[in-house]
Amino acid sequence: MIKVSGLKKAFNNIEVLKDINFEVNDGETVAIIGPSGSGKSTLLRCLNYLEKPDAGLISIGGVTAETKKVKKSTINRLRMETAMVFQHYNLFKNKTALDNITYPLAASKKAGSEEAVKIGERLLRQVGILDKAKHYPVSLSGGQQQRVGIARALAVDPHALLFDEPTSSLDPEWVGEVLKVISDISKNDKTMIIVTHEMDFAREIADRVIFMADGNIVEEGHPGEVFDDPQNERTRKFLKNYT
Ligand code: ADP
Ligand code: MG
Repeated sequence: MIKVSGLKKAFNNIEVLKDINFEVNDGETVAIIGPSGSGKSTLLRCLNYLEKPDAGLISIGGVTAETKKVKKSTINRLRMETAMVFQHYNLFKNKTALDNITYPLAASKKAGSEEAVKIGERLLRQVGILDKAKHYPVSLSGGQQQRVGIARALAVDPHALLFDEPTSSLDPEWVGEVLKVISDISKNDKTMIIVTHEMDFAREIADRVIFMADGNIVEEGHPGEVFDDPQNERTRKFLKNYT
């Protein structure tokens, strides 16, 4: 499972995360929603130390990092427990779809090169673009590129998948196919945290919804609770803009 306690992060003396505490159970899908600038991306990036927290404890899949005494080796192990899917795909432009998947697999020593190709092809098939294996990102649609991004994240078989607004950069025509792929994965008992502005999608796939504002978790609960009967005024105001 994932456990976060007392997580704090400031940029230029401005507190962006103010004492964040939450847990995610194994196999659970948690959606994080909230206004732009509320700290959602920073929170995800702190989970794998892409940003170093100022304080707090992060535990993922049995690896625990306490900010004050964290070692480089612990950060590396923590990173092996997660994989991130980014808003802007972040694919290697000079690598084919397949190589985008096999490269990190081999680099993390999670598979030898032949095995990596097998895993890569299996996952490209799973996300529906095995026929694009030899294509470079520039010749793929946004939806196809993001599906490569998702396959790449799955390839290292992480304890948890972290999605940061995976459909926000996509033209509307590609959003549905990417949400479908993520929805299918969520049925497979993967532990997932998804930052999204797709409220219908969050309601459909999340076991739990966390609403963030101003660096705080303001409210959390079952999608039915948060979306249909929000307790906090901030949550109500935020959700009004989506109906
Ligand atoms: P969200 O993902 O909810 O839109 P972010 O986590 O991206 O919010 O940002 C939260 C706040 O932190 C914003 O005010 C943003 O400008 C600031 N911020 C994020 N990253 C950095 C950074 N690397 N340097 C300085 N400020 C940052
Ligand atoms: Mg963000």
